[in-house]
Amino acid sequence: MTRSEELFQQALHLIPGGVNSPVRAFQAVGGGPLFISRAEGSKIYDADGHPYIDYVGSWGPMILGHANHYVIAALQKACERGTSFGAPTELELEMALLITKSVPSIEKVRMVNSGTEATLSAIRLARAFTKRDKIIKFEGCYHGHADSFLIAAGSGVATLGIPDSPGVPKAVAADTLVAEYNNLESVHEIAKKFPGEIAALIIEPIAGNMGVVPPVPGFLEGLRELCTREGIVLIFDEVMTGFRVALGGAQALYGVHPDLTTLGKIIGGGMPVGAYGGRADIMSLIAPEGPVYQAGTLSGNPLAMTAGIETLKEIRKPGFYSALEIKSAQLVEGMRENLRALNLKFQVASVGSMFSLFFTEGPITNWREINQCNRALFSTYFRAMLERDIYLAPSQFEAGFISIAHTDEDIQKTIRAQREALVLATRT
Ligand SMILES: *Cc1c(COP(=O)(O)O)cnc(C)c1O
Repeated sequence: MTRSEELFQQALHLIPGGVNSPVRAFQAVGGGPLFISRAEGSKIYDADGHPYIDYVGSWGPMILGHANHYVIAALQKACERGTSFGAPTELELEMALLITKSVPSIEKVRMVNSGTEATLSAIRLARAFTKRDKIIKFEGCYHGHADSFLIAAGSGVATLGIPDSPGVPKAVAADTLVAEYNNLESVHEIAKKFPGEIAALIIEPIAGNMGVVPPVPGFLEGLRELCTREGIVLIFDEVMTGFRVALGGAQALYGVHPDLTTLGKIIGGGMPVGAYGGRADIMSLIAPEGPVYQAGTLSGNPLAMTAGIETLKEIRKPGFYSALEIKSAQLVEGMRENLRALNLKFQVASVGSMFSLFFTEGPITNWREINQCNRALFSTYFRAMLERDIYLAPSQFEAGFISIAHTDEDIQKTIRAQREALVLATRT
């Protein structure tokens, strides 16, 4: 028995499912999760000290790799000055400056403690601003675990096959309208049905929680037009894509500007952080400037701000994204080359340093299509990769993340492992 197996058996008695977030369990692929003891650069080490090349990156935040020297040194210093004050700090101002400088559509920003908090607060704000109740989300998009969003949510919910979570009041679910990703017509139909009733449209501008699904040309532009015309607040949930696909996020990549943006993951540099921001006229409704209440004992925490600021400073250095994208292109091209060599028609989707291998030959533009993927093949593939020391997210419906710490050697090793794993998975 490995140390991870031992710990997992104990954890099952004390923690629901043995994990503090469902995506960490290996339910979709069988077996128990690895317990991690430490991480450095591109590697994570399990409880027995065995290293793996990590493509989970704590589900997105670790764009610099693990235990980045600058981040850790700054954190150590910050610790000594105290861990929380419950009063404003200069660090929060520095973070707000970094965010608004990098993401032009964000004029004002409020820090919170998670992506979930960011999205639920953004929706409350949009409802207050428009004096309307309904929201539109897309099938397969994940926006955290607030009640309004647990309708046709991807990621962990899709993996576990829970379409709507029990415990979500029917009345709340009724205000969430679900459209099809990359299908503008499906959004127009909803808008026509509920004129003057829709407060917000929230979307992952590049979907990452059903695996990586980029927007088709014209889709985001079409949403922008519709929202402007109908007075709907357009919210880009860039908790995953913010500072990941470009300094200014997906909105900079595609040149479509939302009214509000939600952030998380990378801006915390591995600490628990979220943020929401956007048009000053909307953001000014938030208390204490306006009447929309939203608060947090640990919001803007000095340690979290420090880790985030150091991370953003690193990625703002010239050449960061081009270096990251060269690594990503090498990996993605290597994976595609493997598929061609083995005459397999599965597909690798990627934007920047996010990637997914989909075990389907059909189109992959929305949840209905992604759901056709062969999960059994994925499980065998996942296991074979893990045996070759490659740590992927334990689900077909997740993105992989490359960090700046991944070396050429890591990438070549991953490509070789992938070829063997594909052969094993498709042999029967
Ligand atoms: C991860 C994620 C969230 C939720 O963030 P948490 O910090 O886990 O609450 C929300 N939206 C998107 C797009 C995400 O990827």
